[in-house]
This record gives sequence, structure tokens and C-alpha cells, in this order.
Amino acid sequence: MTILDGKQTSTNIKNELKEEVQLRKEKGLKAPHLAAVIVGNDGASMTYVSSKVKACDFVGYDSTLIELPSETTEEELLNQISDLNNNPDIDGFIVQLPLPKHIDEQKVLLAVDPDKDVDGFHPTNVGKMTLNLSTFLPATPYGILELLERYEVETSGKNVVVIGRSHIVGSPMSILMSQKRPAGNATVTITHSRTKNLTEITREADIIVAALGKAEFLTGDMVKDGVTIIDVGITRVEDASKKRGYRLAGDVDFASVSPKAEFITPVPGGVGPMTIAMLLKNTMLACQRRND
Ligand code: NAD
Repeated sequence: MTILDGKQTSTNIKNELKEEVQLRKEKGLKAPHLAAVIVGNDGASMTYVSSKVKACDFVGYDSTLIELPSETTEEELLNQISDLNNNPDIDGFIVQLPLPKHIDEQKVLLAVDPDKDVDGFHPTNVGKMTLNLSTFLPATPYGILELLERYEVETSGKNVVVIGRSHIVGSPMSILMSQKRPAGNATVTITHSRTKNLTEITREADIIVAALGKAEFLTGDMVKDGVTIIDVGITRVEDASKKRGYRLAGDVDFASVSPKAEFITPVPGGVGPMTIAMLLKNTMLACQRRND
């Protein structure tokens, strides 16, 4: 069994980006500049955003964090987005999800300039991704492709089962892995909450991408020997033995699944760190497109 070490791989990617920033500076070119907007003070969202800002510092990007109170109106947020769209110094930006209930998420995502949409959530970029045209790939699926590629996990002709059909993970993952590309060319089945006989389907899978957000859902009896497991889930599970009162659990029951797996991502330290590294990669691409 080989652990797909997302923490180490993301550090490698960040070091590569750091060198690229250095080279840009030597040539007199600007460093990439990422902005992040967060509305309200949801604990998990604040943790994600601060890791993104920290990662920018590490690679030498400029970063701007815009923290707005939870009472921010939709109009105020849209104005903020318009400012970021028009600010020539900002190469890319993200609006941390979820947003407070009184704000229409779709409206906000549509307002982001597709050329600065480094999360790859704008319909223009989703469309380009679907057509396999060059664009910003959504960071989590992009990170999974990169991890599979760097560990040389064979995907061509393999049976891939994706659990979950969200717009940010499951759906793009299934599209990308079915395309003609590195870490692609797979035969993909996408499953969701209405899927019947899930276990029969997962037992046939060579590769499983679990992205449903249910702690330790996928158990050893649901997989075959030699399977590759990508665990996207991050759920906070109460744990009185931990100082912070919870532990982070994946969608996979690591104890029963890992003995059967050829490759498996851990939680934490698997897909999570890769997501941040790929956001930085998208920001570098945005900067190159805008300035070079
Ligand atoms: P979501 O909550 O938007 O969607 C969950 C999906 O799972 C739905 O499509 C639903 O149909 C499906 N589902 C629910 N119960 C199911 C069942 N019993 N059988 C089969 N399918 C079922 O999910 P999301 O936003 O993609 O997030 C999923 C998990 O991944 C969450 O734990 C989230 O925190 C985590 N996540 C991690 C990263 C990362 O960087 N590691 C990024 C995004 C999301």
C-alpha cells in the first residue's frame, strides 16, 4: 500500500512555484497577486482562507484578504467583486464559500471576471473545462489529477467510481477523468444520494473518489483488492480527547480500506493540501496570461 502524500506533493509544487516567482522577479516581472473575499466568520472557512494566504506568503505571491461582516448585502459584495475585477494589480481572486443565506451564490459566481476566476467556478470556465479547452480547473479535482499523475497511478481504461456530484468536486472530477488527458481516459461512473446498490458499483472500481462529506462512509467491504482510493471528505467529528474538541475525518474508513488499497490518500494530508497548491498554480497561470 502506498500513501498518496498530498502534503509532500503540495510542498513540492509550492517550491516549484516559488522558483518561478523568483525567475519572474529576476526578469523584472511582477509576482502573482491573489485576493480572497470572506463574508462572515465561519470557523472552517476562516481556516481555509488563512491557509491560502499563508501559502501565498510561502511562494512569494502578493495576497489581499478582504474580510466582510456577515450582514454584508448582496449588492455590497457585488460591488466588491466589481472592484476586484477592475483592479489591474489583482491577477485572480476567490470568494470563499459558503456565503450567508441572504446572498445568491450563483449571482456572485457569475459576477467574477472569468479571466480572474482562479477557482474555475464561472460557467465560462466550467464550459471550457467540459470541452477540454485550456482554463482554470477547479482546484480540488485539479489537485487529484496532479496527485495521480505524480505518483504515476494508471488511469487509462480503468473503472473509476466518483461518489458525490457536487459542482466543485464530484461533477468536474467525473468529467476530467473521462477526458483524453494525463490521469484521464478512464471509464467513469458518477454516483450520488439516489444511487441504488452503491456497494455493488464500488466493488467493481479500480479507483474510487469519495466526495460525499459523510465521515468514514466507505468501508473495507465496499472495495476490491488493489483499489486506489482518493478521499476528498473533511468532516469535523466531535472528539473530547482533542484540545479543540473535534478531529477531522475523511469519507473513507482508513482502517478497514487501506489494507486492500494499492494507493490511498490520508485525511488530513491528502487532497486538502493539494487543493491549495492548485489554486496557487491557477493564480500563476492568471498572472502569466494577464502580464506576460
Ligand atoms: P456536497 O455536500 O456539495 O455534495 C455531496 C454529494 O454527495 C451530493 O452530490 C450527494 O448526492 C452525495 N451523497 C450524499 N450522500 C450520499 C450517499 N449516501 N451515497 C452516495 N452519494 C451521496 O459535497 P462537496 O462540496 O463536494 O464536499 C464533499 C466533501 O468533501 C465534504 O466533506 C467537504 O468538506 C470535502 N471537500 C474537501 C475539499 C478538499 O480540499 N479536500 C474540497 C471540497 C470539499
